[in-house]
Amino acid sequence: MSNTKPPLVVSNVIFFVAVNLLGFVAAPIYGLTVGFSGWAWLAAAVIWIASGLSITVGYHRLWSHRTFRAAWPLRLALAVFGTFSLQNSILIWAARHRVHHRHVDDVERDPHSILSGFWHAHMGWMTRRWKTSEVNLDEVPDLQKDPIVMWQHKLYWPAVWILNIGVPAALGWLTGDVLGMILLAGAFRLAVSQHFTFFINSLAHTWGRRNYSLDNTARDNGWIALMTWGEGYHNFHHAFQADYRNGLRWWQFDPSKWLIAASAWLGLAADLKRTPWFKVQRARLQIRFRELEERLANADAAPTWREVFDRELHQFRDTVSQWQAVQAERVQVGADAVRDRWRRTEFRTRYKELEYRLKMQARRLAELQRSLQPAPA
Ligand SMILES: [Zn+2]
Ligand SMILES: [Zn+2]
Repeated sequence: MSNTKPPLVVSNVIFFVAVNLLGFVAAPIYGLTVGFSGWAWLAAAVIWIASGLSITVGYHRLWSHRTFRAAWPLRLALAVFGTFSLQNSILIWAARHRVHHRHVDDVERDPHSILSGFWHAHMGWMTRRWKTSEVNLDEVPDLQKDPIVMWQHKLYWPAVWILNIGVPAALGWLTGDVLGMILLAGAFRLAVSQHFTFFINSLAHTWGRRNYSLDNTARDNGWIALMTWGEGYHNFHHAFQADYRNGLRWWQFDPSKWLIAASAWLGLAADLKRTPWFKVQRARLQIRFRELEERLANADAAPTWREVFDRELHQFRDTVSQWQAVQAERVQVGADAVRDRWRRTEFRTRYKELEYRLKMQARRLAELQRSLQPAPA
């Protein structure tokens, strides 16, 4: 990036300053001096949850990554509530997000590369006319066929004002405190939800563990997941972006995946995509091997450890190539043969065997890692 900064996007700067002043200064002052009604808290909470989940489930996992299919009533609800979050139209959001994934960390292409700095990734990318912030709608030809997406794109700005000021004002009028409702359910809720979302671009590329891929800066972090409706498992997400889950394990806090699963159960969503277990485990083990290799190189470990390591690595590669062979075979025999019960069972047992081999290997590697732990000085 050159040293001369591009000009400010004045409208965005004014908007961010206004929202943050109203949300983080005016709203608390009003709360401490006048006080908010229970209705205002309730409305703020409901809009916060619904709009937050609409970004993660709708904008992100449905429209940007197509990790499942959704019936029109669900798409409509996600489009409407997503508009509350003021993160631009689905079309623009998804176009930029796809570029972020394809060119992650590339300061010349990623719209919010963390390598251009924490502030840039958090908000700075929206406050100036960076070349990387330009939108290319050629990224989203599929979304241009979705009438709900196009309708939201066309009506976006009027809808934003109606939802963020009109709705709180109307609710405030009904419950007897227009200003309080606008400040709490409008400004404060919006400011909080924006920063929490922006953390996915800044904090989730900075703080946490890289469990599935060392190829980019994305991190897994349960704390960030708490603030972002489950999007904190960002390393997993960058490694397996087609998966409808970000928190892979059932206990990982990912309300977005729970909402998608519940929608499927209600018949509103279908074709939920999951990464095969083997691929996930393979990614984890690849990282483990890299760590072990570093440890072996640094410590003056006994040569026998090196032998063990080489044997394990050899076996790992063997298991992976066998799995790829089964995959290829399954594609070759085609859908007809897989419908045959016996063939299906045969494939399943072969997969299970290979998965088992990987699982046992993961245990041995964990043991090896413990054995190679540097002795306390
Ligand atoms: Zn994504
Ligand atoms: Zn990311």
